[in-house]
Amino acid sequence: MSCTLFIDADDTLWENFAYFEAARERFLAWMEQGGYARNEVDVVLNRIDSERTHEIGFGSMGYREAMRRTMLFFYEKTGREKTARDTVLLDEIQRSVHLHPVELYPGVAETLAYLREKYPLFLVTKGVEDEQSGKVERANVAGYFKDVFVIPDKTPAQYRELMSILAISPCDAWMIGNSPRSDINPPAEIGMGTVLVKKERAWDFEEVPLKHNGRFHEITDFRQLKEIF
Ligand SMILES: [Mg+2]
Repeated sequence: MSCTLFIDADDTLWENFAYFEAARERFLAWMEQGGYARNEVDVVLNRIDSERTHEIGFGSMGYREAMRRTMLFFYEKTGREKTARDTVLLDEIQRSVHLHPVELYPGVAETLAYLREKYPLFLVTKGVEDEQSGKVERANVAGYFKDVFVIPDKTPAQYRELMSILAISPCDAWMIGNSPRSDINPPAEIGMGTVLVKKERAWDFEEVPLKHNGRFHEITDFRQLKEIF
């Protein structure tokens, strides 16, 4: 088949979610030590985190900001001042996410090598330019792709723009990724084919009902792409 493949990065090529999870754990433990109920803090953090993504984007700085606002929310309620130690903790957590090790999932490199021989590949990742580019560099995968696109959010309009920049018809394009919200529903809406690489654990934020258009596959291992393409 004649087509172009667009491939997501975080949690499709390499683990990312686990580092945010570890960051969240560390923050909750800190707040718990300060006397705040862990589950209450967790609820507020999740709420603020999904609100702020529209405002300040995805990535470690955005997550730091969500943690900071959550902290202030509880501190204000109890008349407590934020201290220098709180700031140090937030900075440390942010850095641990920003610079996390990037290790490809098993079989990703060989599968990309196989796909590249047959189709033009483009990496499409959502987030902050320098953070995402840093991960692409550490993963050493840029060579498999004709180009890497870091976009602020994965909306139908953003996908449409990509198609028009590259002069590709959505009928000849597939998007491959782990997130129904970002990698399946919006590209399916504009007529692209989609492949969901299903992960056991995911952001609550990314968990929305799947809406594909019939040109759709679901796999659990990146290597299965070789059976489809
Ligand atoms: Mg992803």
